[in-house]
Amino acid sequence: MTAAADVDLFVIGAGSGGVRAARIAAGYGARVMVAEEYRVGGTCVIRGCVPKKLLVYASRFHHEFEDAAGFGWTVPEAKFDWAKLIANKDREIDRLEAAYVANLTKPGAQIVRTRATIKDANTIALASGGTVNAKHILIATGGWPFAGENIPGIEHVISSNEAFHLPELPRRIVIQGGGYVAVEFAGIFAGLGSEVTIVYRGENVLRDFDDDVRMHVRAEMEKRGVKFVCGHTVTAVEAAGGSYGVKLGDGSLIDTDKVMFATGRKPNVKGLGLENAGVKLAANGGIAVDEFSRTSVSNIYAVGDVTNRIALTPVAIREGHAFADTVFGNKPTKVDHANVPTAVYSEPEIGVIGMTETQACRDFRRVDIYKATFRPMKATLSGRDTRVLMKLVVDGETDRVLGCHIVGESAGEMIQLIGIAVKMKATKADFDATMAVHPTMAEELVTMRTPTARYGLAAAE
Ligand code: NDP
Repeated sequence: MTAAADVDLFVIGAGSGGVRAARIAAGYGARVMVAEEYRVGGTCVIRGCVPKKLLVYASRFHHEFEDAAGFGWTVPEAKFDWAKLIANKDREIDRLEAAYVANLTKPGAQIVRTRATIKDANTIALASGGTVNAKHILIATGGWPFAGENIPGIEHVISSNEAFHLPELPRRIVIQGGGYVAVEFAGIFAGLGSEVTIVYRGENVLRDFDDDVRMHVRAEMEKRGVKFVCGHTVTAVEAAGGSYGVKLGDGSLIDTDKVMFATGRKPNVKGLGLENAGVKLAANGGIAVDEFSRTSVSNIYAVGDVTNRIALTPVAIREGHAFADTVFGNKPTKVDHANVPTAVYSEPEIGVIGMTETQACRDFRRVDIYKATFRPMKATLSGRDTRVLMKLVVDGETDRVLGCHIVGESAGEMIQLIGIAVKMKATKADFDATMAVHPTMAEELVTMRTPTARYGLAAAE
């Protein structure tokens, strides 16, 4: 790249948000260049949502084979080949990466495979040499696992990044953390046959989720063999001839073959040169942006996990698209960050949207809770000891559905559709006016009739 190069948009980072922004901007006729130092696709495609879900699928066959017996099938002893799964997963990621590259190059965006840093508000320095002059800069560098500091033996600890490339399936694994990544990987490893222990510093995992969801998921995971050590943190990891001793705050030791930390992710801002242009950070360490994703510098924008708004792929994609519409499409577009549905691919799966019971009781005077736990029909013949949870949080005064919380098979699929109703401000009466689909698990959402009333903090005012 020569110093004279000139683009309308320079995107740093070819992940979900950056790729969408680049593609749409190029479609509007902008001259776009995208820098990526690793692989095109970013966290979601290369070492996040996509490979994770492939591993989740793999892990669920274990129970499917067992459950088949109750339906008359005799399945020969099932054998699992980790190396084959990883190789097949890697092939699929290669295919997707190529599709992402094509998505960029087809509308005319240029990809430079190197690290890019900001020299000043209009100049990008490429690690491969040279500078690029850009009218607009979009920072879409995502986040990176944060393992904590000052823990002796931290060099033995893997993050989810490495979990996708382990040479073999660990017989035993300790996972520290209680968020999305920890519970999802606990389900993957347990399903594939590892002995899994979750070490979590609080009382119960999935802190910001509804308390019923948290209790239900934990109980179901325990039924599937996952051990929980709550109220503890890992203070040291000691290597001991091929295995590890995981030391906890109370001095106790857990022997294991692998240690993984899933203790959150931090926005990828280090060494980007933000200070050279005067791009400011928010208190949470992400890049501070306004509702149009504009940073403190008028021609520099940021989208996705690097801004530390909501760290979810579809949110980053929307932000990237809205940025391109705003800046290059002459259509100023804000992203609505309220009521974002989300799924956790734990085993069992979680799907949620909107308020938890606790949040609703804080903001509303009367809250009606509709809740059902039941044995899914499939478990009757399989004999599996499992239950589904469905919960609706409803404003007791207006009847509006404020939140929906599902734990069970296909909860993610269900919450995507319930999300439309909640976003449209549907009332419980609207749910009830919808005919049930029988026999499904989701029909419970339109047939629950007797609420428990909760009187929230707002009632006391
Ligand atoms: P989360 O922030 O969800 O969870 C981090 C966990 O680590 C929390 O339980 C936290 O405890 C604990 N923790 C943090 N710091 C420490 C520490 N120093 N010592 C011990 N424990 C600690 O992060 P994840 O990495 O799980 O996921 C990152 C984000 O990625 C998610 O929030 C989500 O937005 C996204 N994601 C989405 C997925 C999906 O859509 N299915 C899948 C995976 C990730 P505490 O609760 O006490 O703070």
